[in-house]
Amino acid sequence: MIAVTSHNISDERIEEIVEHIEQEGARAHVSKGTDRTVIGIIGKADPKLQEQIAQMKGIEEVIKISKSYKLASRDFHPDDTIVDIKGVKIGGEHFVVMGGPCAVESPEQIDEIAGLVKAAGGQVLRGGAFKPRTGPYSFQGIGIEGLKWMQEAGRKHGLLTVTEIMSAEHLDVIAEHVDIFQVGTRNAQNFDLLRELGQSQTPVLLKRGFSSTYDEWLNAAEYVLAGGNANVMLCERGIRTFESYTRNTLDLNAIPVLQHLSHLPIISDPSHGTGRRELVVPMSKASVAAGANGLIIEMHPDPDNSMTGDGVQSLYPDQFEELLDDLGKLVPLMGKKFEASNSLVTAK
Ligand code: PEP
Ligand code: MN
Repeated sequence: MIAVTSHNISDERIEEIVEHIEQEGARAHVSKGTDRTVIGIIGKADPKLQEQIAQMKGIEEVIKISKSYKLASRDFHPDDTIVDIKGVKIGGEHFVVMGGPCAVESPEQIDEIAGLVKAAGGQVLRGGAFKPRTGPYSFQGIGIEGLKWMQEAGRKHGLLTVTEIMSAEHLDVIAEHVDIFQVGTRNAQNFDLLRELGQSQTPVLLKRGFSSTYDEWLNAAEYVLAGGNANVMLCERGIRTFESYTRNTLDLNAIPVLQHLSHLPIISDPSHGTGRRELVVPMSKASVAAGANGLIIEMHPDPDNSMTGDGVQSLYPDQFEELLDDLGKLVPLMGKKFEASNSLVTAK
């Protein structure tokens, strides 16, 4: 349920109501919006409690929410969530680009690419150190050493970093070196991992499972939020359909639908969503037009020799640069800002 408070309610009164809810054995979650404060009530769908709260001073109405996810829903949190990572804002009107290779390959490679991402105007360096490969004999990623190279490249070029976490055993070491955990499509419903990420305060980029419905995806986000980590971003990366020309089908419907259902930022991944380099630029622009809060794009200066098969979907640096130039014009048309001011300062 959610309790909508009256416009002029005081903080003390909100606290009293929260106390009452907790005394009744439910959890209360206060969300202060620009317009109103709403109190989400989780864990007890008791009609008597609903009636009681509805009659309390300062409460305008109590609405029953039938969705299985609560904290992820816009009902509970009417305003957009803006995740602030070291001053870089993601969500609402703040648009970001995350760029980099599929996998971290060497210190030189990640340093060179970080320089290219920064020069083009990106804010976040992507790169996998632990790679979830379909076959066990394929390159599985550099591992911990790769995290250190990423951290160095990020610091040197003034970029945030994002890397995939496959196992909770790496939670501490990744959080120590990298700014954002990426949960890959293959782990999108690894509930033990999601629960562990909820115990951390490090932001999470939660990819959509390749066969997850919106409801399943938002419930996956709920696992992280319910643990106390409010810094969750969603990532549409394409779903499996009957079409085989493209690697996946980038579901652009997801962007406005998820923005309607949820307050969490949504990032689009046209690289995995299409699997084809020539489609990455048009689908990046289409994602912006659909309202995405950012993009995550694979880019590699020598994609033919990249260590994962994802070279075929990686942009060349000049294509990446040109795309970001165009985004400088396109993003403002969508009422968002894609600005150098939303960046880390380059380390000297
Ligand atoms: C990746 O980002 O390189 C990756 C493996 O993504 P996904 O989990 O979407 O396949
Ligand atoms: Mn990849």
